[in-house]
Amino acid sequence: MRTELQLLAVLVALLVGLVAGKGWERYRLKDGRWVDRRRLRDTPHYMLGLSFLVDQQVDQAIDELTLAAGAGGQVLEIQMILGNLYRQKGQVSRAITIHQALLQRPSLAPLEHAYVLLCLGLDFRHGGFVDRASEAFREVLRIDPRNRHALLNLQKLHEEQHQWREAVEIRSQLASLDTRSHDDSQPILGFLRNQIGLQRAAEGDVVGAIRSFEEAIDVEARTTPAYLNLGDLHAREGRPADAIAVWERLVDASPDRAYLAFERLEQAFYSRGVPQRFVDLCQRLIRQNPQDWRARLALSRHLSAQDQPRPAYEVLLEALPHHPHGLAIHQEIWQVLSTLGLEPALVQRYRDLAREAVFYLDPHVCTRCRYRSTALLWQCPQCHDWNSFVEERTTPAKVMADLAREIE
Ligand SMILES: [Zn+2]
Repeated sequence: MRTELQLLAVLVALLVGLVAGKGWERYRLKDGRWVDRRRLRDTPHYMLGLSFLVDQQVDQAIDELTLAAGAGGQVLEIQMILGNLYRQKGQVSRAITIHQALLQRPSLAPLEHAYVLLCLGLDFRHGGFVDRASEAFREVLRIDPRNRHALLNLQKLHEEQHQWREAVEIRSQLASLDTRSHDDSQPILGFLRNQIGLQRAAEGDVVGAIRSFEEAIDVEARTTPAYLNLGDLHAREGRPADAIAVWERLVDASPDRAYLAFERLEQAFYSRGVPQRFVDLCQRLIRQNPQDWRARLALSRHLSAQDQPRPAYEVLLEALPHHPHGLAIHQEIWQVLSTLGLEPALVQRYRDLAREAVFYLDPHVCTRCRYRSTALLWQCPQCHDWNSFVEERTTPAKVMADLAREIE
């Protein structure tokens, strides 16, 4: 999917370049003869090829563009697009051959040279030739230091090889291009610095790891795993108060992700002899966001553990309408019900409530590519974007039924 997007981006950049006419003449001397780019308009194959391309009909696009290339006298951009299409079809060596042949042309303008190299880099990356891909992208940057496609591809290559420091360096260059790139880059830099922290912790460099996690949080306050990892490190190093402080910072920075620290905080408060602080925390979160079923579930479990099954049951029934498909809530409800001897009135209340619920799976959705996942993921396995998952909110069946009646 990413390759397709990059391909389209390259094409659009090229077409814009064509229209702008910057660095492009109408006539060019190629292999000793003048080629008129307007001749492309005299053949239907060029436009047909572009139309098939937009419709993502790769085979037809290749056929038409090959015919157009014959009629148009081997115009550079058509060859370039053809190479890209072969890559997209998985014929990487053919794509490499086409793009390498283009590089041999004697009169390439710097812009043309950079774009052909970029295509070649994408071919190598697609074929798994990591070193050669990296070399091609670096060559693009020597010609055009602000080429964001080359920077982005280099960043991804480093990420794939877990070279987090190099990825940070490249992403920082990308971030310095303009304000929008800067803003887009901050969350990514946060996650990359978190990865550096994990690497340092694994190497036994505790001080360096702590610094990296703090840097991750400084660069982007919503880098949730950095708080978790930093707190875990403090706890492991025998500093429970510091650990609690970091996890509480997470709760303040991202209340919707606070649940990831619940077990840690509950345990830490318990071992410090202040379990009430956990109750206070859950109640504060529920007050802030009445839909927070996770704080209710955590509170209920805490109450059950403190031999208070009745208040625990009430809290669970409040949680259910906000997350009716949550197996964890249903399991907990049955747990508490059996503790209470399956009292018929209590079971009846649960059955009435559950009947109104809507059930569905995979609640986490990638906002970039719509990939669905049961678990919350920090990096999307499909589009490789960072921190792109949100949780779909469900509406209780009763509300839907009321809405339906209103529409009628
Ligand atoms: Zn995605």
